[in-house]
Amino acid sequence: MDYTDLYINGTWHKTATRFDVINPATEQVLASVASAEIADADKALDAAEAAMADWAARTPRQRSEVLRKAWELMTARLDHFAHLITLENGKARADAMGEASYAAEFFRWFAEEAVRADGMITHAPASGARIIVQHKPAGLAVLITPWNYPAAMGTRKIAPALAAGCGVIIKPASETPLTMLALMPLLEEAGVPAGLVNVLPSRRTGALVDHMLHDPRVRVVSFTGSTGVGRTLLKSAADQVLKPAMELGGNAPVIVFDDADLDVAIEGTMLAKMRNLGEACTAANRIYVHEKIAPEYIRRLSAAMSALKVGDGTDPSVDVGPLVNAATRDKVAEFVADALAKGARLECGGVVPEGHGYFYPPTVLSNVPENADCVQDEIFGPVAAIQTFTDQEEVITRANATEYGLVAYVFSGDFKRALQVCERLDYGMVGLNRGLVSDPAAPFGGTKQSGLGREGGHEGMLEFMETQYISASW
Ligand code: NAP
Repeated sequence: MDYTDLYINGTWHKTATRFDVINPATEQVLASVASAEIADADKALDAAEAAMADWAARTPRQRSEVLRKAWELMTARLDHFAHLITLENGKARADAMGEASYAAEFFRWFAEEAVRADGMITHAPASGARIIVQHKPAGLAVLITPWNYPAAMGTRKIAPALAAGCGVIIKPASETPLTMLALMPLLEEAGVPAGLVNVLPSRRTGALVDHMLHDPRVRVVSFTGSTGVGRTLLKSAADQVLKPAMELGGNAPVIVFDDADLDVAIEGTMLAKMRNLGEACTAANRIYVHEKIAPEYIRRLSAAMSALKVGDGTDPSVDVGPLVNAATRDKVAEFVADALAKGARLECGGVVPEGHGYFYPPTVLSNVPENADCVQDEIFGPVAAIQTFTDQEEVITRANATEYGLVAYVFSGDFKRALQVCERLDYGMVGLNRGLVSDPAAPFGGTKQSGLGREGGHEGMLEFMETQYISASW
């Protein structure tokens, strides 16, 4: 691996302690990566502060052109990034190519948004003073990303932060730091000045991030990961009243009505369930199918799941790679064992294969009881857990009965009914007759304990900006 050290102020830094990154398909060590200490965080903050002064003063067009160049360069190297993503995360080639291209699109989208931080001017109704509203870069941002999308969860934060005029320090997930490190030479080539973007892999995660969140120069903390860690970060962020952007866990319901086009519903469920082999916060977690169509739906979904080829994701004929690590694989196996013990029926899969690699087969469970752990928690693996329903009101209540509110999916041929149901779902996003909602041009994010703020769309850049209002008379 070419890039395994800390990236601070545009240069590579070795450290005394390092940690191993494992290829989940082979269980072999892929690389030994530098582990940042507190002193490294201070250097990165100094560099980001110095670089941001010049960057924030550049015109929006100048910032936009650097981001546009980053999109062009990344788009020309999708193969390279996809390969790296598969090696460190395990996901199959098609998933990795999808991620690389999705990741690159954030640079293009925010190149276009950089020039649209629109404010406004109006008359105060009572006093007649002018109300001038404008948006300014919020300050240094600490970005913390998960392992399930090693490229896209980073670019979804870096691109809007740079568009807004902020400098950043990124703490990538310890399972998958290589893709983010490999992106840095590309950003240099695109014209990102030294120091503006710094990458600090670390095994001292909690202490390192906490230290940065208490530095008075930091104004934003943008996190994607589990709800538990999100809560911890919100508590740390409270000390300096930082601007938080939190993209946290999900427990996505899929509702399939009896008037749904079954081809569309099966294709959509497969996408919602198996994109990234279920290791996605948007993954279908609870599947509610109308009783009338349940037998046919289960038969067809099981056939589609059984047809997927499991193996090392670097083989282009493979559909489903390994899970990211042994703990994630074992947790998925426990969810299945728990559901079966509580009365669920195994339609396909469910057996951990022998040999190396953290593989788990695509699995379908029907008749899953409400009290099964996989209904209450995120499965984060290739297991479709199916329940049935008969009544619209009842299924809306069941779908909303969770502390999460990231995404829900609805399949119905009756558009009027479907939209009425969508509006009643307490979720930040709803896929209607679609199994995919993620789009750089759309505001991604959840309600309740799935998070705060939005990434992508127009909202994404405003997460890195402060609104200033000037009351003026002339
Ligand atoms: P995680 O354990 O919360 O880790 C995410 C990141 O937080 C990693 O970089 C991790 O570093 C870091 N971290 C861990 N403990 C920390 C602490 N005390 N202080 C500061 N940082 C800390 O989550 P994960 O297992 O990687 O990812 C899976 C979760 O992410 C799922 O719940 C999923 O739903 C959620 N997710 C949400 C979205 C969304 O957009 N809503 C998208 C993707 C994933 P280390 O790796 O060094 O521990």
